[in-house]
Amino acid sequence: MYFKKIEMHGFKSFAEPVAIEFDQGITCIVGPNGSGKSNISDAIRWVLGEQSPKMLRGGKMEEVIFSGTDSRKSRGMAEVTLVIDNENGSLPIDYKEVALTRCMFRSGESEYRINGNQCRLRDIRDLIMDTGIGVDGYSIIGQGKISDILSNKTDSRREIFEEAAGIVTYRTKKAEAERKLASTSANMERLSDIIGELE
Ligand code: ATP
Repeated sequence: MYFKKIEMHGFKSFAEPVAIEFDQGITCIVGPNGSGKSNISDAIRWVLGEQSPKMLRGGKMEEVIFSGTDSRKSRGMAEVTLVIDNENGSLPIDYKEVALTRCMFRSGESEYRINGNQCRLRDIRDLIMDTGIGVDGYSIIGQGKISDILSNKTDSRREIFEEAAGIVTYRTKKAEAERKLASTSANMERLSDIIGELE
């Protein structure tokens, strides 16, 4: 499985339709500062279902839509399609090539598609789950993440190792179980008060 192509239209600085083909192996994207290199990795994150504008280096999700320049009008919609080679069947779907599409309109409406068929975000998440390419994985490491790893703050480094080791899920489940236990013991106390009053 590998990314074969990404098509962007109206996404961030890519006002006009752009298609970038990737080969197997390592691909390097080079260009001057501000030319849109990081916007390409943002597009990959976005099409894979990223819901946090902050992770896409913005304040609001609408900011992914081309906002116009002195010479170009803004766009009403952003659309990204990521074509994935699935010859080895890593993605649990009966296609040798899978095209994931996400589009968003300025009105806030958005749409997801798998090989052109409309679907839910959940279907995309289910499809890429356990392949390591999801937005929660480490397939996309932003500049900020590298400084987090190199940071001297032991807490932020620990968080990264805990996440990679899969401990965070258990920590969250433990906190949830503790909350339930606390509310059950509060209910038990109330019950024993009521029983005491009835006796
Ligand atoms: P660097 O090498 O400095 O990290 P880069 O090549 O990674 O830069 P990006 O951060 O990908 O560059 O692109 C930044 C450019 O994208 C800026 O010029 C910014 O104005 C433009 N941009 C971001 N969002 C939008 C948008 N919604 N509409 C139009 N242009 C946008």
